[in-house]
Amino acid sequence: MSLQNTEAQRLEALRDLQILDTDADPAFDNLTQVAASLFDMPMVLVSLVDEHRQWFKSRVGVSANQLPRQGSFCTCAIEFNDLFIVEDALLDPCFSNSRFVIGKPHIRFYAGMPIRAENGANVGTLCLMDTQPRHLNEADQHLFILLARQAEQLLYLHSRTIQLALQTQQSAASNARYAAIIESAAAGIVRIDGYGHILQLNDSALRMLGYEREEVLGRNVKMLMPEHWASQHDGYLSTYQKTGEQHVIGSGREVAAQHKDGTHIPVHLAVSEVQNDGDPSAPANREFIGILSDLRAVAAARAREQHERSLLQVLHRGLTDYHALLSGNTLWQFLKEALKNLTQSEYALIGEVITKEGAPALKIHAISDLSWNEPTRQLMQQLRDGEMLLSGPHSMLGQVFADGKTVLSNDMLSDPRGGSLPEGHPVLRRYLGVPIVDRGEVIGMYAIANAAQDYDEGLIEWLKPFTSTCALLINLYRQLNEQKRFTEEIEAARDLAERSSKAKTDFLSSMSHELRTPLNAILGFAQLLGNGKQPLAERQQRQVEQILRSGQHLLNLINEVLDLARIEAGYTQVSLEPVNLQEVIDDTLDIIRSLASSHNISLQVQFAEAQDCFVEADYTRLKQILINLLSNAIKYNRPDGSVVLSCELRQEMVRISVRDTGIGIAAEQLDLLFEPFNRLGAEHSSIEGTGVGLALTRKLARLMQSNIHVESTVGEGSVFYFELPLLSVASPRISDAAVVSHSATYQPLPKKYQVLYIEDNPGSQRLMQELCGDMGNVQLLCVGSAEAGFELACSGSPQLILLDIDLPGMNGFQLGRMLKNNPLTRSIPLLAISATCSVQDKQQTGALGFAGFYSKPFDLNRLTQHIQQLLSQQDLI
Ligand code: ADP
Repeated sequence: MSLQNTEAQRLEALRDLQILDTDADPAFDNLTQVAASLFDMPMVLVSLVDEHRQWFKSRVGVSANQLPRQGSFCTCAIEFNDLFIVEDALLDPCFSNSRFVIGKPHIRFYAGMPIRAENGANVGTLCLMDTQPRHLNEADQHLFILLARQAEQLLYLHSRTIQLALQTQQSAASNARYAAIIESAAAGIVRIDGYGHILQLNDSALRMLGYEREEVLGRNVKMLMPEHWASQHDGYLSTYQKTGEQHVIGSGREVAAQHKDGTHIPVHLAVSEVQNDGDPSAPANREFIGILSDLRAVAAARAREQHERSLLQVLHRGLTDYHALLSGNTLWQFLKEALKNLTQSEYALIGEVITKEGAPALKIHAISDLSWNEPTRQLMQQLRDGEMLLSGPHSMLGQVFADGKTVLSNDMLSDPRGGSLPEGHPVLRRYLGVPIVDRGEVIGMYAIANAAQDYDEGLIEWLKPFTSTCALLINLYRQLNEQKRFTEEIEAARDLAERSSKAKTDFLSSMSHELRTPLNAILGFAQLLGNGKQPLAERQQRQVEQILRSGQHLLNLINEVLDLARIEAGYTQVSLEPVNLQEVIDDTLDIIRSLASSHNISLQVQFAEAQDCFVEADYTRLKQILINLLSNAIKYNRPDGSVVLSCELRQEMVRISVRDTGIGIAAEQLDLLFEPFNRLGAEHSSIEGTGVGLALTRKLARLMQSNIHVESTVGEGSVFYFELPLLSVASPRISDAAVVSHSATYQPLPKKYQVLYIEDNPGSQRLMQELCGDMGNVQLLCVGSAEAGFELACSGSPQLILLDIDLPGMNGFQLGRMLKNNPLTRSIPLLAISATCSVQDKQQTGALGFAGFYSKPFDLNRLTQHIQQLLSQQDLI
């Protein structure tokens, strides 16, 4: 290479050779020796020229190992850049005065050939010197050049050797570093060959896997893997080597390593391949390095996290879902199972502490099965059902629920607190009992046994949120139970009230039925006797009248007592609606007028606006009140006295007063006035009465949100008054469908009509027979049951059916419905005749399409008129 080397490049190349001042090298020395003898030269040098000197790597015939550069032949040879020969220095003007010529070593002949470094720079020369002038022929020159080239090769070799040594040193250092890294690495490092043989593994790997180095070196790496991985490893390796298909190689993944003791260790394994020289398809030429990171701490952290999460899940479900758990009766079971799982225990129980005979006792709500034979199985069941309470305060459980102590034992077999278990009882090795405390009171406990690991304080601490949640849930459980018990009590009380109410209703209706039915016969027959075609003797007439009066009195009494009883039992309902005051007063006066005239009492009404005045009231009840007050005012009046019924508008109310000029009532008796059966002495007089009227009147008034007041002066008279809300809008009274118009007049009809009477009471049947007999145009057919009545109604087509409601078997309502639904009987008018007189019954018959409702004892004239009216209508059809 022809290079015009700069001096700087040349010097750098020389430095790079690292040859200056190095020890003698036999290779160079051999070369100079060869040259000396070959050319018969007394001096031969391998001279290397640096900035200031020429240093001799090898020298023959020169004692100094270096000489100054200045004026040297070699510098000229280097600059000449080719074979440089000075045959006689003394004849050469350039060198004749050179100190190397004049002085030692007295050079006369010089031949120098530049030696080049690998980059082509001339770093020195191979030179021949003699103290005599010499001549080199061409062949010698050629030979000399070859030797110089050889010197160059030796330089290269030297340089290589130096580099190699350096590299070796570096790689040794790097190897040492790697070895140090590998050895001190926290991760386990395993190197294997392509067959899976372990070539190397570090201390961490040995520690992790529990082996000594010599136990594993040279063996197959499968020994460090669990069976599942080991069985597939050979396959993985060979597949990878054949196809390059990677499983772990080149990437990392979590696997398990097998410890010498057989346990599995979670590890992260990263495998990389080390390519060696040689045929890559030969397994021996392939190596793999596996780096194993121990994940036990990570796994433990994960397990802890999972554990915490499980606890949170239990607490969350317990708190959010407690209602469903409680109502589904699964709360305790849920808590017990959660406890078992959270603590990895074999057995668990959870219970509530209650007080029994002044001492705490444990009611177990959920418990793992500890039975070992039939009797113990039954015992467990009793415990589970809460039929059996545990009360012993000294047992392992007792110390917890009775003393509130936490009891922990990991060696139950020799723990004196445990006592001896009965034969057959499952062995308890570890035990932990924890009291559930709420505001200083032990309200429950749980216990666990036989976990895989020891119980410790840490666990108790960790379970604290669970324990507190149990306290909360026990309280909620108790509250809900209390609430349930309360609801049950209320329901029981309601059932009882309903039953007693039903009993009262039954009693009232049977009283009504039982009393009215015979009275119906008494009054009916007495009326028949009195109105009969055969005139009675005067005495008999008086007797009949007495029967009628007494019967009427009895009827009044029964009506009032039953009314009162109904109100008191809460069965009387009022229907408040707009009532035309004039109309109800007129109606009342129609009834009361005869009483007033029979007592010779004048009766006046003072009410200017009565015509358009509507009050909010129950028409019938209001009429009843007015009749009672007016009849009292008449009865307890003085001869020729007067009674004034006045209605006075008072803002939004109407005050209705009944004023009399009678005997008056003493102030101290006013309080007793409304007591039932208290007649205030009138029972000793000839004035008829029952003592119930005013009590009933007040109750009726109260049903209409009013009250009866009284003011009285003995000897002057009394005023009874009450108030009702005035309605500004006039509206007509809703007429009662069952009330028969009184305008119809009785015209005896000649034609014979078939009338069917369905009635089980023979007395009532006879009375009706008599009544119909008197009518002259009615043929009455009586049957005692609804079933027989229905048959006759269908087959006989009567023009009218009189129907008792209180029939044995099918009742009158049911029969009425059947008759109205049947096309054969649908058009036959029905009249209900019942011993009960309840408003509901009357309404029901109205709804079923009955033409009227008569309660026993009925008014014969009214019924006769109604029957005739219905029969005459039948003619028109
Ligand atoms: P009775 O059936 O006896 O009339 P009441 O309950 O209607 O029963 O009245 C109770 C008692 O109050 C009567 O017996 C009578 O002594 C007294 N009494 C009621 N109204 C008057 C009145 N207007 N004047 C005087 N005393 C009356």
